[in-house]
Amino acid sequence: MFLSDCLGANEKNHLTIGGIDTLELAAEYGTPLYVLDEDAIRRHCRMYTESVARFYDGNGLILYASKALCTKALCKIAEDEGMGLDVVSGGELYTAHKAGFPMERVYFHGNNKTPEELELALKLRVGQIVVDNRDELILINDLWGKANQKADILFRIKPGIDAHTHDFIMTGQIDSKFGVALETGEAMEIIREAVSLPHVKVVGIHCHIGSQIFDLEPFCKAAEVMVDFMGDVKDTLSLTLTQLNLGGGFGIRYTDEDDPIPYDRYMEAVSMVVKSTAERRGLPLPYILMEPGRSIVASAGLTLYTVGNVKEIPGIRSYLSVDGGMSDNPRYILYQAKYDFLIANRCQDAKTEVYTIAGKCCESGDLLGEHVPLQSARRGDTLAVLATGAYNYSMSSRYNCIPRPAVVMVSGGKSRVIVKRETYEDILQNDCL
Ligand SMILES: *Cc1c(COP(=O)(O)O)cnc(C)c1O
Repeated sequence: MFLSDCLGANEKNHLTIGGIDTLELAAEYGTPLYVLDEDAIRRHCRMYTESVARFYDGNGLILYASKALCTKALCKIAEDEGMGLDVVSGGELYTAHKAGFPMERVYFHGNNKTPEELELALKLRVGQIVVDNRDELILINDLWGKANQKADILFRIKPGIDAHTHDFIMTGQIDSKFGVALETGEAMEIIREAVSLPHVKVVGIHCHIGSQIFDLEPFCKAAEVMVDFMGDVKDTLSLTLTQLNLGGGFGIRYTDEDDPIPYDRYMEAVSMVVKSTAERRGLPLPYILMEPGRSIVASAGLTLYTVGNVKEIPGIRSYLSVDGGMSDNPRYILYQAKYDFLIANRCQDAKTEVYTIAGKCCESGDLLGEHVPLQSARRGDTLAVLATGAYNYSMSSRYNCIPRPAVVMVSGGKSRVIVKRETYEDILQNDCL
């Protein structure tokens, strides 16, 4: 009956996550509150990691795309689960470092890494840099050269695959700020140049074709295009690339309209394509990387809010306002992302009303959903927004000087804070007169 298997209802008709009453969590930690089920996160990790063992003889690594939710606790879970980490900024890299994450399993992405960020990566001995463009290639060669070192690099490739997703998060096209294109010969040229540089070692290629994708086909197509390109690189430059990073983007269920594929199916399907294409091109099987972010954490999380005023505009709509909004979840204002909503203290009652859920920020577009079905609600109720584990806390802001909510992790019937609630003093911490 609930969207995700970590949710349930207890005898009080209260919503539970990981078996814990959400009303008790709201009372103990306050609202708004992000809650995550650690056991569900680990189950998701294992679906991916076990699929590498099962369908590809363990010849690969699953990287957690930390941008979905980057905290030390998440880095620790990824490490425990034998995964690597995808980071896209100095801040994410620093978080992984502070969590004690093994740096040889880190892949550093990003379309415009600054020299300072690259120096940090060099200093921390990050395992692999995913190079976006020629400028960056030269910069890396210089920086690593000054330190008398050699960087293991992959190139971000635009394979030109239509990923059947929202335009704003589609990245496989030629017209994308990410990476170098295949069709134009740009990708081959940059690899040719890299081979001639003394302080980089080209180990592989990477693509990421989009996000919230529900089809296997674009991933299989991308895998085929990429392995074919590895064949071209071998034929043209006599260089055998050993790593194939196929990115993330695996879809999850935000509402009943979404029908995600079990996460182990991706490796099952992709490994067949990689094997057959590698054989056709006379290539050794590459080490495969996949980078799930959203599908690791999104459905393992929810956000709890306290309902404030309910404002009916006769003949138009009813606004239900909560004590957070775009500051803790900007996904509706960014791309009209859809969510499932529940009144947590009457979670099994029928959804007899339709509300527009409004935040408390001074922005008319500050909504979490429009015309959504919900139980009849009044001031003081607890509203749960489901599947907010990814791209909520990590995209949060302090707009209107609203402190960021706490992040609480539940596991084995217990809860703990993994990120403390911000205070007004935190907001002013770096503010000088
Ligand atoms: C965003 C991103 C991911 C993760 O995407 P999800 O949709 O969260 O799985 C993986 N790799 C790269 C390079 C990305 O930019």
